[in-house]
Amino acid sequence: MLARLLSALAAVLLIAGPATAVPTPDSLDRIAEDFVKLTLEAGEREEGYVDAYYGPAEWAAAAKAAPRDQATLRADVRKLTVRLNGVPTTGETPLQARRKAFLAGQLKAADTRLSMALGETFKFADEAEGLFGVRPQLKPLSHYDAVLARIETLVPGEGPLWQRVDSYQNLFIIPTDRLDAVMRAGIAECRKRTAARIALPTEEQFTLEFVKGKSWSGYNWYKGNAVSLIQINTDLPIRIDRAIDLGCHEGYPGHHALNMLLEQKLAKQQGWVEYTVYPLYSPQSFIAEGTANYGIDLAFPEADKVAFEREVLFPLAGLNPAAAKDQVALGAALKDLAGARLTIAQMYLDGEIDRETAIGLVQKYQLVSRARAEQSVRFTETYRSYVINYGLGEEMAKAHVEHAAPDAAGRWKVFEALISEPTVPADLLRR
Ligand SMILES: [Zn+2]
Repeated sequence: MLARLLSALAAVLLIAGPATAVPTPDSLDRIAEDFVKLTLEAGEREEGYVDAYYGPAEWAAAAKAAPRDQATLRADVRKLTVRLNGVPTTGETPLQARRKAFLAGQLKAADTRLSMALGETFKFADEAEGLFGVRPQLKPLSHYDAVLARIETLVPGEGPLWQRVDSYQNLFIIPTDRLDAVMRAGIAECRKRTAARIALPTEEQFTLEFVKGKSWSGYNWYKGNAVSLIQINTDLPIRIDRAIDLGCHEGYPGHHALNMLLEQKLAKQQGWVEYTVYPLYSPQSFIAEGTANYGIDLAFPEADKVAFEREVLFPLAGLNPAAAKDQVALGAALKDLAGARLTIAQMYLDGEIDRETAIGLVQKYQLVSRARAEQSVRFTETYRSYVINYGLGEEMAKAHVEHAAPDAAGRWKVFEALISEPTVPADLLRR
């Protein structure tokens, strides 16, 4: 009896032996695949979690059919993190190390976002660090009083400064019947300037749509295969400066360019599946929003911007071209207030001020009408600490690029690397 048992056991061991006794070491590819599947399932549990996906359709179908619940997903994110930390570093190339750092940031973000969904609350700075990989150092609002004083001299007169700025900018509203033509001309010029510096996939294209009832003013929906849908929210009148801002930010060299380069260079050429999914609340958004905002200044130095507005966009919109220079100068000055938006968001989300106070402070420190301030606060309520990705992301992307290269050609090269390699926020601090 014993002999028979032993021989049966030996047979089992022989059959099972090689598979279980010598496990193959974990690989980044397998961890990446599990990360994508997990992200898709988290996306089934929270609307807006997944911003874009162009990986295998059967993975999306499987996630839809049987998504794990959020508590299980979070536990599985933590297991994936342990696996990632266990991948040997010996013989690792610099590119593999960067891939690992990227995956680590994405996993930390998933852990944080799922914890929020499960009812955990974070202070603004902790939430931002968990989701986007950057701990924001915010300046007090009083820091921006000097900027307000400077803008006073640009728009002198009676009444609250926000009202003067708002009335002045309303002189530059694009008439509805010219909106499509002006926006297309803006995007086309952004594309031309980007294509002169960065090789874009030949098949690339975008669709432009005007929509209403959104908490954002513009959005790029990346569809894969170098195709984007760019939407513009027309709830509020669109001013002329939005043509270049939006064209660069949502299009070139912003979101559309970043997404298609990541697809081409990392998802397709390297076969890195983690790039086929874009979880909105992740360090990827810090890089995406920061470079999209900085890309406006990179593509249009102030003098170029004035010339293009004066010669092309203003006439196309039926506006007085002589006003272009002053309007661009005001826009540049207003940019110095970008950080105030983050400080106000932090105060509001941490419960230091109420909604009404937040709206008032947005009016005072962003110099906008009540309607625009309400739109801004609604955005903060929806996307929360995501707001750091704009002001702070831009500041860090700009500092990184301009420190690395003194001239335009060099800056475009550094910029291209940021939007086509596995970049994490910490890379922006590297000098
Ligand atoms: Zn954006």
